[in-house]
Amino acid sequence: MPDPVSQALVQGIGRISKGLVEFAGKYRTASPGKNMRHAVEDIVRRDGANTGVFSEHASEKSSNFGWFKEIKEYDHYNDPGTNWEIQKRLQEKFPSSRIEGFSAPGIDTRTAKEIESNLIEFRGKYPHSDVHSLHIDDHDEGVLATTDQMVRRMTDGAGRRIPVGSRVTFSKQFAQNRPRLLETIRKCVDEKFHPHLSDVQNNATGSILWHEFGHVLSNDGKLTALAKADRALFDHFVQTRGHTGSSLETLEQYFQSQGGDELARTWKPFGEWRSQLSRYSFWNGRLDPDEALAEAFSNVEMSGARATEPAQVLHKLLVDEAEAQWRKMGKI
Ligand SMILES: [Zn+2]
Repeated sequence: MPDPVSQALVQGIGRISKGLVEFAGKYRTASPGKNMRHAVEDIVRRDGANTGVFSEHASEKSSNFGWFKEIKEYDHYNDPGTNWEIQKRLQEKFPSSRIEGFSAPGIDTRTAKEIESNLIEFRGKYPHSDVHSLHIDDHDEGVLATTDQMVRRMTDGAGRRIPVGSRVTFSKQFAQNRPRLLETIRKCVDEKFHPHLSDVQNNATGSILWHEFGHVLSNDGKLTALAKADRALFDHFVQTRGHTGSSLETLEQYFQSQGGDELARTWKPFGEWRSQLSRYSFWNGRLDPDEALAEAFSNVEMSGARATEPAQVLHKLLVDEAEAQWRKMGKI
């Protein structure tokens, strides 16, 4: 008979996230024995954890992007020795993270190099971020990368779960197939499903990785930014557009009673401004704060001042909330 903890875990990993990814049970480990009193190395995905999915957008729409004509000419380039060196270098540089999967057969070395340089840049800029692991591994069809909050299950009788950082998974299938990877990214950007990329030629995987790193910061901030995203967008818009007095009061009342989604539908200026966020930032016409924050993070980190104004707002919120937690933990 399963113990309550593992039963809850099964329910958690069985959850379907937005129809894109079904949680697999592969991270599930055996239930600890009744006699075990101490914490075990039993790292699992948190029940019901948000999963950051950067997925292939299934669309047949054609594109005439000039740069894509060039990247289509790329041949497969796999240098196992270099890939292994990259993993070794990263593991040495980040001993507290697990770096895995780079030496799997057929990994395109250019993609491996990009993953390396982006991870180094991210950790250089956000050294307190908690990356439990970064690995290249099998993934569900069409999914480029995901991020999971990992927890350690304690076996001290209290059923506690201690967060141990985020696990970033980059799809092995896409890492092995550079033309498909670039084609997928091109489609996503072309159709405004994901934000514009600043350097597709030299850093094609950047937008994927920085989106996932956005989820890492979200997890670092204990997800507090999610509940504040709607409010931050509203506050910024009314403050920067000069709303005061009764006009602000009316908007405030409406926002309080209906929320940002309804306000965006009925108040065109706000709706149009907010819709500058990528399409993946919304789900069924509603702001999806989890993805919107990750998208905004990627947008600002990749494009700097050229990122959209609402993305700048969400990026700031995400970083502020992560920093607040790092401060509480004495990291900064
Ligand atoms: Zn995501």
